Amino acid sequence: MVTRSEILVRGIVQGVGFRPFVYLQARRRDLRGSVRNNTAGVLIEVEGTHGDIEKFVSDLELNAPPFSTIDSVECNHNLTPADYSDFVILESSHHAPTGEQFVPISADVGTCDDCLKELFDPEDRRYHYPFINCTNCGPRFTIIEDIPYDRAQTTMRHFEMCAECRAEYEDPLNRRFHAEPTACPACGPQLYLLESDEESKREEPGVVRQARSLLLKGDILAIKGIGGFHLACDALNAEAVEKLRQRKYREDRPFAMMAASVALIRQHCVVSKVEEELLLSERRPIVLLERRPDCKISSAVAPRINALGFMLPYSPLHHLLLKDLNRPFVMTSGNMSDEPICFDDSQAITRLSTIADHFLLHDRRIYMRTDDSVSRVHDNREMIVRRSRGYAPAPLRTGFRFLRPVLACGAELKNTFCLARDDCAFVSHHIGDLANLETLRAFTEGIEHFKRLFHVEPGTVAYDLHPEYLSTKYALSLHDIPRIAVQHHHAHIASCMADNQIEGEVIGVAMDGLGFGTDGRMWGGEFFVADFLEAERVAHLAYVPMPGGAKAIRESWRMAAIYLQHAFGDQFVNLDLPFVKDLEERCWPALRSMVATRTNSPETSSMGRLFDAVSGLLGVRYTVNYEGQAAVELEAIAERDIADGYEFQIGPTENAIEAGPVIRDAVEDLLNGVPAAVVSARFHGAVARLILAIAQKIREERKLNRIVLSGGVFQNMLLLRQTTRMLRTTGFNVSTHTRVPTNDGGISLGQASIANARIKSGRTS
Ligand code: ZN
Ligand code: ZN
Ligand code: FE
Repeated sequence: MVTRSEILVRGIVQGVGFRPFVYLQARRRDLRGSVRNNTAGVLIEVEGTHGDIEKFVSDLELNAPPFSTIDSVECNHNLTPADYSDFVILESSHHAPTGEQFVPISADVGTCDDCLKELFDPEDRRYHYPFINCTNCGPRFTIIEDIPYDRAQTTMRHFEMCAECRAEYEDPLNRRFHAEPTACPACGPQLYLLESDEESKREEPGVVRQARSLLLKGDILAIKGIGGFHLACDALNAEAVEKLRQRKYREDRPFAMMAASVALIRQHCVVSKVEEELLLSERRPIVLLERRPDCKISSAVAPRINALGFMLPYSPLHHLLLKDLNRPFVMTSGNMSDEPICFDDSQAITRLSTIADHFLLHDRRIYMRTDDSVSRVHDNREMIVRRSRGYAPAPLRTGFRFLRPVLACGAELKNTFCLARDDCAFVSHHIGDLANLETLRAFTEGIEHFKRLFHVEPGTVAYDLHPEYLSTKYALSLHDIPRIAVQHHHAHIASCMADNQIEGEVIGVAMDGLGFGTDGRMWGGEFFVADFLEAERVAHLAYVPMPGGAKAIRESWRMAAIYLQHAFGDQFVNLDLPFVKDLEERCWPALRSMVATRTNSPETSSMGRLFDAVSGLLGVRYTVNYEGQAAVELEAIAERDIADGYEFQIGPTENAIEAGPVIRDAVEDLLNGVPAAVVSARFHGAVARLILAIAQKIREERKLNRIVLSGGVFQNMLLLRQTTRMLRTTGFNVSTHTRVPTNDGGISLGQASIANARIKSGRTS
């Protein structure tokens, strides 16, 4: 008996070939009807026998194409047949009212295997075409200007399809059916090479070959990519890397690299099975890997740190450039230090002309600037460090529902914002440090773009307590909606809870750089009993002054001096330590009177600043050129496999943790000639043991066993591994970050989650 069913599939990502897949499945079972996108998802109507329809539905769920994520399949069976004669794919209908539903937009996807085969097949009409793509791969988020996702609303609208491309685009059985960015050498974007010192412009053929030889000869190329420009050079050529570093004014910050294969990366780094999968995933992040002892990479690529960032080619142009080259290349963001990555041609040519020798350009416009994502593996799981290209704007499921749409403005550094509705949080791509005017514009324009794309009109705005954050000022400028202020470290803990989809009370450990506290001081070494609604601060590092405020972050030696004074009193100047001897020249007396008179010396309980102090004390680093550098280098020198550690002291005030004993023991070790590597290891051990001790105390008093670790300090893998191991051995249920960063890139998700809990409880301030 013939019957009719309506099936609504929710959660499909647009542009992954789902409708052709449905078409094929329906044809296979001889079902009649139609499939179309609407703003709620994919709507299918089928007519046939009940048995065939059932098998059809189970096929949908079991054999869906790669990268389509099905959230739910809602069926309405046993409807009166409408006597369809055929199965057809209908044009999209977009009649659902705004604010009703949204269709998630795909992140950019690395070139698929089918396209790669064609790219290197001399018989194929797209042979060596640097912009080949299909429904399973290619640019998405970076070229979409508006919804619905149609070519006319992307930066591909300037290219009119040739007859052959159009035929593929309209053929439901073709891999390029409705592949919006589809193109070929006859009708699509073109590549060209520009010299920075002359007007000469070279077009295909031969441009890629020429670019390869320029790279191999040691030149620096600015290469227009998917989400912005890269600066590229030979990573084994120390001179080229030095030249890039000097021209970019980027003194120490590590460069990422790209290599043609995992085998090639293995020559320089240790790559585990999970890390290999991450490198090969269609999201193609930069993966931070441990350097091998015999690594041949120029030390100028990543000075004084263990980890190297590697990615595999993700665009057809990268595949063409790197094919069969047996060396890795630096592929770092095309910007001057501290500026956001360039994504516009003329802007890139102006800004990068003093850095790059040549420009490899194309005429497909980038609409949304996105940096490369950075990731790593912890606990055999991905732990994202910077969430951007390939990830954003995919929604994150939080495990709870947002009562009202919320906008969360995030932090100041490594900013992301978050728009949330229903059970989805749309955490933005990495925006960057808001101190820069252009980043601020990317922030405000990004919010408007996300509001349009995902039909979110926020009814509440959440922001950080810090009055000077530009994200806070932006939130406060929105007068017509309720505003909710969120403490920075509560947001870190909530971020990690939402990341892991957990609710209820937890022990929250926030080890961080700096965040504004509810008492107006700068927090960052905090222990809480927290849920989404409240965070009760149960212990924290004892306050010390931060002489010079922000200056004490850049001049990290100041914290070393302060902690020495804290531990030994003013007598510390008599200690026979290289750091103390150097200090004379660093004007300690001025600093001392600054602290004594409490001039420009905000108090802090930051663990990040304590890492800075120990780094300075050991002579590892006195000043920093990028955020976290002192701690990163302190971690890098630490001797592995050292079990013991110093002891913090809890008290004399009930909940203040004294670092004095740790500093005194470290100094004693140094005076006894113990190597800095061992002192560093013992310091890491001390922090891990402190976390364990406080956690055990809270567990006893509050009967809580679930512990959540967040904050920038947990980017330190030595500390993170040690801490999780100790906590697990003693039976704690430990959650760490995986889908959003433990650094301030995760703050916006935490703010949104807390705002929602406050709305639910009726506390909207
Ligand atoms: Zn493809
Ligand atoms: Zn064409
Ligand atoms: Fe933070």
